Amino acid sequence: MMTQGMMYSPLLVSGLIKHAARFHGDTEVVSVETDGQIIRTDWFSIEHNARLLASALGKLGLTTGERCGTIAWNNRRHLEIYFGVPGAGMVCHTINPRIAPELLVHILEDAADRVLFVDLTFLPLVAKLRSQLKLVEHIVLMGPRDSQAAAMLEGLQFYEELIETGDQTYEWPAVEETAVSSLCYTSGTTGNPKGVAYTHRSTVLHSLVVSGTDVMAVSARDSVMPVVPMFHVNAWGTPYIAAQQGAKLVLPGQNLDGESLAKLIDAEQVTLSLGVPTIWMGLLGALRKGVGTASSMKRTIVGGAALPPSMLAAFRDEFGIELIHAWGMTETSPVGTLNQLKAKHTQLDFKHQSELRVGQGRPPYGVNLRIVDEENVSLPSDGKTEGKLQIRGHWIAETYYGMDTTALTADGWFDTGDIATIDMDGFMVIRDRAKDLIKSGGEWISSVELENIAVAHPGISNAAAIAGVHPKWDERPIIIAVRAKGEQVSAEGLLEWFDGKIPSWQCPDAFIFVDALPIGGTGKVLKNRLRKEFGDVLVSKQL
Ligand code: AMP
Repeated sequence: MMTQGMMYSPLLVSGLIKHAARFHGDTEVVSVETDGQIIRTDWFSIEHNARLLASALGKLGLTTGERCGTIAWNNRRHLEIYFGVPGAGMVCHTINPRIAPELLVHILEDAADRVLFVDLTFLPLVAKLRSQLKLVEHIVLMGPRDSQAAAMLEGLQFYEELIETGDQTYEWPAVEETAVSSLCYTSGTTGNPKGVAYTHRSTVLHSLVVSGTDVMAVSARDSVMPVVPMFHVNAWGTPYIAAQQGAKLVLPGQNLDGESLAKLIDAEQVTLSLGVPTIWMGLLGALRKGVGTASSMKRTIVGGAALPPSMLAAFRDEFGIELIHAWGMTETSPVGTLNQLKAKHTQLDFKHQSELRVGQGRPPYGVNLRIVDEENVSLPSDGKTEGKLQIRGHWIAETYYGMDTTALTADGWFDTGDIATIDMDGFMVIRDRAKDLIKSGGEWISSVELENIAVAHPGISNAAAIAGVHPKWDERPIIIAVRAKGEQVSAEGLLEWFDGKIPSWQCPDAFIFVDALPIGGTGKVLKNRLRKEFGDVLVSKQL
C-alpha cells in the first residue's frame, strides 16, 4: 500500500517475537517446569519453537481465526504458544483451570477450541471431562512423550513431537492487525464467564504504552517475573511486553508460595515482578523468615485486588521494595491505571506521598476514565465524589466474544462495575466493587476500607468484609478474618482496633475467624462464597 508519508506495517504479535529474536536473541527466558526443573532458554529459541508450532498447527489443519486453548502454568512452552498461535493467525485462548468443571466445559465449547494444550498437572482434570468436550479435536500434553500420561487419555499428543512436524523455514504470515490474537474469559463470579477477545493491534498498543517509564517501566536490563498466571488477562501483558523490550523473563511455574518465589527472585536476580496482593502476602512472610533477601527486586506491580496500605509500608520499610498499585480488568487488557507520581508530588511530604500511592493510580495515554451517577451523568473529578467508573480506549473491550450486542453505554463507554473517585490529576481510587459495597440503612460502607484496617492489625494475616443481611439496617458489615500464625486476637480486640479509624456506625457487627479465605484461580478472594456461607449470621444469630 502506498501512503502519503510513512511506511505502513500492521501491529502484530509476530512482530514482537521477531524483534525479540532478532535483537535480543540471547536474552534469557527461565522456566520452572511442572516437575520443578529449571530450564534456561532464550528469545531466539522461543521464537524458533513458536514458528515450528505455528507451522505444525497448519499441518494439523487449523486455519486463520481458529482457537487453541491452554490450561497451563507460567512456563516456556506456554510462552511459545502465546506467540506461535497468534503469530500463525489463530487465537490463543488461555483457560483458568480452577473454575468449576462445568464452567470449564462451557467456555471450551463456547470458544470452540479445536486444540487444547495442557500441562501434566491438569491432565487428570481434562481426561475426566474429555467426553464432554465435543469440539476439541486434539489434546496436546505440554512436554515430551510420556507413556504414563498417554495411558490416561486416548489419542493424547505430545508438544515436543508436534513441533517436530513443523517446518524450519516457516515464516510468519501477514495477518490483519484488527484480527483476534487471544481470548480470555472473565472469572464468572456473577453468571457464566464471558469471553474477551484481544486483537493484535490492541495487544501491541497495550505493550508499547504499558512498558513505558511512567507505567511498568520495563527495559532490556530488567529480569521480569510474572507471578500473575498466564491464564489471567495474558499475565497482564507481561510476555508481550518482555519480548517487545527484550527483557529477561522468569516464568515461575506452579510453586507460587512465598519461599519458592523468594528463592527464585534471588537466583534469577528478578528486578520486577507482578501479581495479586495474596501472593505478596506470602512473599512477605518468607522474607521476614529470612528465606532470601529479594535485594535485586526494586519494584512490584500489584493489582487485581486492592493493595492494603500496610503491605505497601511493610515492603518499603523492611525490604526496600516499592509496590506499585495498578488497576484493570479482563475487559481492559488489563492495564487501566497505574500509580506513578507526577513531578509535583515529589515535593509532597512522605505521609501525603504514601496516601497517594495507596490509590490505583492514573490512566496512561490510550485510556480515558470518567465517573458517572446512576443516570450516566458525569460527576466531578474532585477526589471526593464517588461514582460508577467507566473507561474507554485502544485496548478496552467493545463487546464480548460471540455476542452481537455492544457491551458499551449509549455514549460509548465501558462500565466497569467498580465505584471510584478521580482527582484533578487523574488519580483514581477504587472505593469498592459495586456488588461488594455494604448498604447499611441506605448508606454505603466500603468493604475495601474495612479490609485495609483489618489486615493492618498485626494479629491478622488476611481479611474480607462482606455484607451480612440485617433485619433493621438491611445490611451490616461482617469481617471474615484469618489470624496470623501463633496470634490469638479476639473479636473484641479487633473491634477495638477499628475504633476511631472510621465512623462508629461503619464498624463491623461481627468477626468470624477462619483458617483460610476461599481464593479463586486468579488469586482473588471469592466473596460470593463467603456471602453464601456467612451472609445470614446476623439474622440466624449463629455467632
Ligand atoms: P478481573 O477481570 O477478574 O481481573 O477482575 C477485575 C476487577 O478486579 C475490577 O473490576 C476490580 O473490581 C478488581 N480490581 C482489579 N484491580 C484492582 C485494584 N488494584 N484494586 C481494587 N480492585 C481491583
